[in-house]
Amino acid sequence: MTSPQRITVLGSTGSVGRNTLAVIEESSNFTVHALSANSNVDLMAQQCQRFQPEIAVMADAHSASKLAVRLATEGIPTRVLEAADALEQIASAADTDVVMAAIVGAAGLDPTLAAVNSGKRVLLANKESLVMSGALFMEAARRSGAVIVPIDSEHNAVFQCLPQDFDATLPQQVEKIVLTASGGPFLHTPADQFGALTPDQACAHPKWKMGRKISVDSATMMNKGLEIIEASYLFGLNADQIEVLVHPQSIIHSMVYYRDGSVLAQLANPDMRVPIAHGLAYPERMPSGAATLDLSQQPALEFLQPDLDKFPCLRLGFEAVTTGGTMPAVLNAANEEAVAAFLREDIRFDQIPSIIAKVLAKIPCEAATSLAIIQSTDREARSLCKELIIKDFI
Ligand code: NDP
Repeated sequence: MTSPQRITVLGSTGSVGRNTLAVIEESSNFTVHALSANSNVDLMAQQCQRFQPEIAVMADAHSASKLAVRLATEGIPTRVLEAADALEQIASAADTDVVMAAIVGAAGLDPTLAAVNSGKRVLLANKESLVMSGALFMEAARRSGAVIVPIDSEHNAVFQCLPQDFDATLPQQVEKIVLTASGGPFLHTPADQFGALTPDQACAHPKWKMGRKISVDSATMMNKGLEIIEASYLFGLNADQIEVLVHPQSIIHSMVYYRDGSVLAQLANPDMRVPIAHGLAYPERMPSGAATLDLSQQPALEFLQPDLDKFPCLRLGFEAVTTGGTMPAVLNAANEEAVAAFLREDIRFDQIPSIIAKVLAKIPCEAATSLAIIQSTDREARSLCKELIIKDFI
């Protein structure tokens, strides 16, 4: 690398955001232009002290005021902004080359799209933005020249196993991809115990330390459902070219099956700093700080077919990508609301898939031809989901 890359980290106080800053901290190739969070003032103040960004955005207005006072008191010159349009501003700023999109959920849609529309290198962790706006998102990247490097470990693995010009060559060369899944914390828990599982149990992932929303998604396997949709848009694949294989050790992060019988896989210890470092340095390489994989110390690697009856959210993901249009946006919205209700302990773990299925059955699918249609579908699905939770499930 030559001159330092200027980076904006959206969601810097989250699990992916913190790992991103940990990788950057070990390198002189990056300067931090801007950071963002929702309400975690303490951690944002520490990050401003350490990385001296020009701008810090807090989506929550009260937290922005608290941060501004704190930084002024501590003599830190970072400018504090608030609200959603400030997120779009830092994501599209001329002073930024690379945007790490690591806000959780639909709140990441507008800033991630702003980064894409302004032709940045976008390190995409916020899968929900692509799931919601799929074709529009990819079309915006083609128009602006934005380079999208997936940070989800599975998609990053596929990306690493494909040639750089995969857009043009993939249909002739690739038969299918296989996304591996850890199976989450309840892989071996009998389904008849799902009703009694608590949020803390659901968030205790055996292999990955992640934010609470994605941890619950991993426990229901909706995370893999969302990832099927994400892979379909990122790599231009049909649903029947994407398979899921449960691999509890999380060493092989995904595989590409070529038409000549070759299978390319990417392996690494389960540590998000690996895909993050790949995205940061792409197309070069840099140290990530992750431990080197030692296969001689690994227990046997296992591979199992997923159980779609025990984990119906995975089936819902396959159905949504097959239907297309606004269905993935409905799936995403209903899932976010159902997971939030489970984390508040308003509903049981085993009710999550049935609520989402009810919302999917009630909202008609439309062509997802504009952001306005997608956003209004998102609102409709959320409000229906909240109604159903109050009426049928509490
Ligand atoms: P976390 O919950 O740990 O962090 C979320 C970040 O988003 C925090 O900085 C949070 O701020 C901020 N945030 C939350 N709500 C809002 C909002 N309404 N507006 C603006 N900012 C907001 O999530 P993760 O880091 O686990 O996940 C981030 C994304 O990356 C998700 O889309 C997830 O699916 C994806 N991902 C995560 C992986 C992981 O290992 N964690 C792996 C692969 C993908 P605050 O701290 O102030 O609340």
